[in-house]
Amino acid sequence: MATIDITKLRKEFGDEGEQIVAVEDVDLTIEDGEFMVFVGPSGCGKTTTLRCIAGLEDVTSGTIEFDDVDVTDQRARERNVAMVFQNYALYPHMTVRKNIGFPLRLSTKQSSDEIDERVEEIATLLGIEPLLDDKPKELSGGQQQRVALGRAIIRDPEVFLMDEPLSNLDAKLRSVMRTELQELQRELDVTTAYVTHDQVEAMAMGDRIAILNEGRLQQVGDANDVYRSPTNEFVAGFIGSPSINLLTAEVDGNTLVGPAGFEYELDDTSWVDERSRVRVGVRPEDMRLVENGGGGGMPSEVTVVEHMGNENFLYAKMGEVDLTARVPSKMRPPEGSRVRFDFDEEDLYLFDADTQESIK
Ligand code: ATP
Repeated sequence: MATIDITKLRKEFGDEGEQIVAVEDVDLTIEDGEFMVFVGPSGCGKTTTLRCIAGLEDVTSGTIEFDDVDVTDQRARERNVAMVFQNYALYPHMTVRKNIGFPLRLSTKQSSDEIDERVEEIATLLGIEPLLDDKPKELSGGQQQRVALGRAIIRDPEVFLMDEPLSNLDAKLRSVMRTELQELQRELDVTTAYVTHDQVEAMAMGDRIAILNEGRLQQVGDANDVYRSPTNEFVAGFIGSPSINLLTAEVDGNTLVGPAGFEYELDDTSWVDERSRVRVGVRPEDMRLVENGGGGGMPSEVTVVEHMGNENFLYAKMGEVDLTARVPSKMRPPEGSRVRFDFDEEDLYLFDADTQESIK
């Protein structure tokens, strides 16, 4: 096990003139035994960060330490890390037994009996013992993923690195494997860095979540922190499904005034400056449907109602602004009807309209 300290990490690709900064100024500590999930949109630098930790990329600047030992200039095989990829990277001509045992046969002086014994232990742990003599192509996606995990575990690595390991599985199997992976990680207690573009997976799996955008770390925290206290508008918009509703408003006295008749009276104006422009955020589950008139809030037209069984998703337009609300299943306003959405002040998020930083 190891604590991973990443300091001022920067990674550029390309030559002078045509450089891409994939990772910029990333400072992060992954605690001993912690499950840290890196999440962010495509191209935000997740995989590059992971590959720097693995030693598969040379960093442009900054340092990476495992337990206070600087490993920045060590090659991948000098670092005690095991990596699991999206495509499993199993050897097709080898049996499961050979695939799992391969790293040990390559790197240790253990006898083949000892290696076989260890392979069987791990196959039992992963529930794939009956498959030991099969070849990868005879296995389902989930079984192949377990073999890839087995091959990663067998060397007792200090650090697990996983890059979208579940993305080739169907939705149901993915959620089963998600739980299995978490249980396995807890049992082995190995420091883990896990990359996904799926914020639901990130929220479900991570002890903490590191959210990246355009190569920069936006926020690190547990699921509750990043959902309830996003540091900026990007995090608020990225975390949560359906996404948070956002619009621009101006502060007029104690009232937020926005487009298409949006008005919201604040009890507490200490967050905002008079006449400033703010971005207003309300989560879909915090939107309250008011069907019969009244003033204030978000006067809107319902465009689509999606019946989910236990609840409904309402899609609406307030002028040009698209809104989404999650409401109880008995609330089903006709499509095309005029409604109003209200919300509690405690559920309101406010961001600076210029910097996008959170102000409430
Ligand atoms: P995805 O989810 O799409 O895999 P990501 O968040 O993992 O995205 P990275 O793969 O880390 O993103 O890429 C970050 C940026 O660096 C992107 O702009 C990408 O095009 C660029 N990049 C990554 N690897 C290389 C490379 N070997 N050469 C040049 N540019 C690269």
